Amino acid sequence: MQYVSTRAAASAAASSTQQFSDILLGGLAADGGLFLPTAYPQVTGDELNAWRELSYADLAFQILKKFATDIPEADLRALTAKTYTKEVYKNTRAGEKASQITPLRVLEERADGSKLVLQALSNGPTLAFKDMAMQLLGNLFEYALAKQDEQLNIFGATSGDTGSAAEYAMRGKKGVRVFMLSPHKKMSAFQTAQMFSLQDPNIYNIALEGVFDDAQDMVKAVSNDLEFKRRYKIGTVNSINWARVVAQVVYYFRGYLSATTSNDQKVSFTVPSGNFGNICAGHIARMMGLPIDKLVAATNENDVLDEFFRTGVYRVRKSAETYHTSSPSMDISKASNFERFIYDLVGRDGDRTRALFQKVETHGGFDLSGKPGSDGDEFKLVAKYGFKSGKSTHADRLDTIRDVADDYGIVIDTHTADGIKVAREHIAPGVTMIVLETALAAKFNETILEALGQDAERPAGFEDIEQLPQKFVVMPVDVQKLKDYIAANTGL
Ligand SMILES: *Cc1c(COP(=O)(O)O)cnc(C)c1O
Repeated sequence: MQYVSTRAAASAAASSTQQFSDILLGGLAADGGLFLPTAYPQVTGDELNAWRELSYADLAFQILKKFATDIPEADLRALTAKTYTKEVYKNTRAGEKASQITPLRVLEERADGSKLVLQALSNGPTLAFKDMAMQLLGNLFEYALAKQDEQLNIFGATSGDTGSAAEYAMRGKKGVRVFMLSPHKKMSAFQTAQMFSLQDPNIYNIALEGVFDDAQDMVKAVSNDLEFKRRYKIGTVNSINWARVVAQVVYYFRGYLSATTSNDQKVSFTVPSGNFGNICAGHIARMMGLPIDKLVAATNENDVLDEFFRTGVYRVRKSAETYHTSSPSMDISKASNFERFIYDLVGRDGDRTRALFQKVETHGGFDLSGKPGSDGDEFKLVAKYGFKSGKSTHADRLDTIRDVADDYGIVIDTHTADGIKVAREHIAPGVTMIVLETALAAKFNETILEALGQDAERPAGFEDIEQLPQKFVVMPVDVQKLKDYIAANTGL
């Protein structure tokens, strides 16, 4: 399997491909594009039938080996077996079996043959779906670094979910250190405790005396210093990482195979979306031949994606137009994985994709509506890819949390509430609608309290997390101090 950049010039595309292991540890391609396979591997009906009975780990192996053809199969099998266990994904709710990994729960069966189903992706160590991919990434990184006798210093900024998922995936991994910036005293007590209570020597929590934007600016400043990056072996694990996207493809297959008994049945997915990483994996599963009917992107008030799927106009937001909402993990100004879909939409034309995303930099967006003066008319092809969309407001999410608690007796988090609200607008007769549950309610207790007047239940082991000893350093917004700190702790 060869990989190409979404911005590769037609003349260079064939000669500049790379293998899975070459792009595993990196982020953007050298030309600023994102990596995709030169062609999507296809699944047959026979394969799907055989896969219906597999464990999650075995299914992950079957799918990954189509993408990571340069990793020996025995190694890949060992990596997936070590990652997808009931011990790692143990934070189940009543009625869920941990051994199932991403269990389904039928919320509603209607007379028209449709169903509303929840797929639990947030049973991992940080109670959010990012663990599904990040836990595998931790094992893949350790494996790849050991093979090359190399080390990697992961550096990033977080306002919550990504940072903790990365730390829990990389803790104790040989060859890896994590330096994670977060805004001092700006995260919830629960999220702070999740990260700062890690005592592993390879995890470095840096509480910055500033806001999240300051932390992001510091990451940019360090990333722009290529010499520093090279010398101290700095890397990232953000949502554009290709291995993360592939790992997410697996649960679309699991969801489909668990919800159906034969391959002539169709299923739709609704996905609470921010950076388009999660739903991009759904798009890839569909392109591989998984019988997905609709892929519904659900956004909050930060509706960059909903606007595109309604109008064909992609318009990124300025900071002042980016709202802090009660579903904070979807508060994005632009969708960093969206370029992968656009590349497919414009017929895998790297020159077009490059021009469109350069226009995002220079003009804040592009327009594929086909109207006079627009940048193209490919919006008319979107339906062929199954995409639909919708959005929720804070009031919608509160209502949905209450409805779901009343009707089905379970407490969902704010991101999942966004998904259920939008899913209900797109349920079609005879088709099962699976909503991806992206976090557990305990992570966003403030809003649960507002909606229900009572606290969200915490999984076992999290009851007193705020009381655990915390390990972190406080630092002013000072790039040189940060670089000195990283340099001193890498021993390089
Ligand atoms: C990251 C995240 C999302 C958004 O996922 P994308 O891949 O960025 O679209 C949604 N919900 C939760 C809880 C998340 O942590």
